[in-house]
Amino acid sequence: MKAKEKMDHVLRVMGEMFPDAHCELNHRNPFELTIAVLLSAQCTDETVNKVTKDLFEKYKTPADYLAVPLEELQHDIRRIGLFRNKALFIQKLCQILIDEHGGEVPEKHEQLTKLPGVGRKTANVVVSNAFGVPAIAVDTHVERVSKRLGFAKADDSVLEVEKKLMRLVPRELWTETHHRLIFFGRYHCKAQNPQCEVCPVVEFCKEGKVRMKPASNRKAK
Ligand code: SF4
Repeated sequence: MKAKEKMDHVLRVMGEMFPDAHCELNHRNPFELTIAVLLSAQCTDETVNKVTKDLFEKYKTPADYLAVPLEELQHDIRRIGLFRNKALFIQKLCQILIDEHGGEVPEKHEQLTKLPGVGRKTANVVVSNAFGVPAIAVDTHVERVSKRLGFAKADDSVLEVEKKLMRLVPRELWTETHHRLIFFGRYHCKAQNPQCEVCPVVEFCKEGKVRMKPASNRKAK
């Protein structure tokens, strides 16, 4: 089976498994999404949502984040990993939004990646979820699943994984593909203990076939 056919089949199966795959970071607008994604680096969406529940009530605009001392913002997000740096990034980002973008989150990818704390992955999440521009953000789940299923090589960089996925999937399905891969990785093909025994795409998965072999066979190879 060619790679595109395999991807097509795998995405269809993932769609049946997770028909409501979506961005799990709670937000009401592009600005809140940007803050939430920035906070989510090396942190679970669940923890971010707990913190942003109160955070987004207290801080509604870029000016709100700049109206408090850095230490207060750091305290408000202290349950998030790397909270000191993230608070600093948020205040710098808010200052740039006010100075250069009229207080709004810019829609262009290249403008987003110039903001402090906003890398390619974050920009992809923001443009796709907030502005409807197709994009595949490669996070840890997308990278792991893509490599296990053989859509990318084990030593491919995150950018290489993204480019390979973009070549295999029609542009209009990029965002949906991103969500499906994330849900599949988060709830089924987990980093530890992937559910290979009940995996509906195991026949396409080198990693799964290796994991399903008896330990004695694995050693013999
Ligand atoms: S067979 Fe296992 S490793 Fe492969 S995609 Fe399924 S759960 Fe993941």
